[in-house]
Amino acid sequence: MDVIKHMLKVFPLIVLRYAFFAGIAYLIFYIWKREKYTNHKIQAKYPDRKNIKREMIYSILSLAIFAGVGGGVYWLKMHGYTQVYKDFHAHSVGYFLFSVAAFILIHDTYFYWMHRFMHWDKIYKYVHRIHHLSTNPTPWAAFAFHPIEALIEVAILPIMVFLMPLHPIAIFIWVIYQTVLNVMGHLGFELFPSGFTTNAITRWHNTSVHHNMHHKYVRCNYGLYYNIWDRIMGTNHEQYDEQFEAVKQKAAVLNDYPQEATVATAPSEVSVSQ
Ligand SMILES: [Zn+2]
Ligand SMILES: [Zn+2]
Repeated sequence: MDVIKHMLKVFPLIVLRYAFFAGIAYLIFYIWKREKYTNHKIQAKYPDRKNIKREMIYSILSLAIFAGVGGGVYWLKMHGYTQVYKDFHAHSVGYFLFSVAAFILIHDTYFYWMHRFMHWDKIYKYVHRIHHLSTNPTPWAAFAFHPIEALIEVAILPIMVFLMPLHPIAIFIWVIYQTVLNVMGHLGFELFPSGFTTNAITRWHNTSVHHNMHHKYVRCNYGLYYNIWDRIMGTNHEQYDEQFEAVKQKAAVLNDYPQEATVATAPSEVSVSQ
């Protein structure tokens, strides 16, 4: 009974979390500041309402599955089957920080390989195809998965609570981190600066262009947070750096243009090198 109560309590909270992060991003980039950020748009076209509605419906369905798995994890915790610890001082602060980093890095690895598996022809056409119905994703696509994929995606949580001692705050940080990064990946706008994908340090972090290209070209750019596995396995799109810079150069050219002239001149009349 407690488990059902937990699921019913968790579900609206995770829907709110999704609505908050995807909603804020959508409001800023697609409505309020659409004009201002239009030069940072990765694909020129804006997705229609039908696409957004589908992304929302599948995302909410996924969140219901996440809540169900959350209820299952709660039951396991109540019966002492997990390594979740409530007393913060049971482990050191150093361990706490390590556990957050380990969670994120293990999830990044889990995601890459799970994602490659999802692209296996036999699985793809029945399951992962749903996520790829968005060829020009918006933040609402962050959790737009087939229910089976939603279950596999969230399986990392029960795996992690078995694997290592985790404080609920560490789990909470991961939840927020993955939501923000997922929204960023599906944002449709690139906010990182020119040179980000070639800099010795920042190139190891993924970008919105990276995941947008995954939606556009399908068989490349499988990584989640970091560009580690795609580099190791050679699965980055061969034009990743060029396409990232093309988006940034377009932004630079249009942003450098005097404000009055931009208003007076249609963007098509401004010479843009892409
Ligand atoms: Zn995919
Ligand atoms: Zn995606």
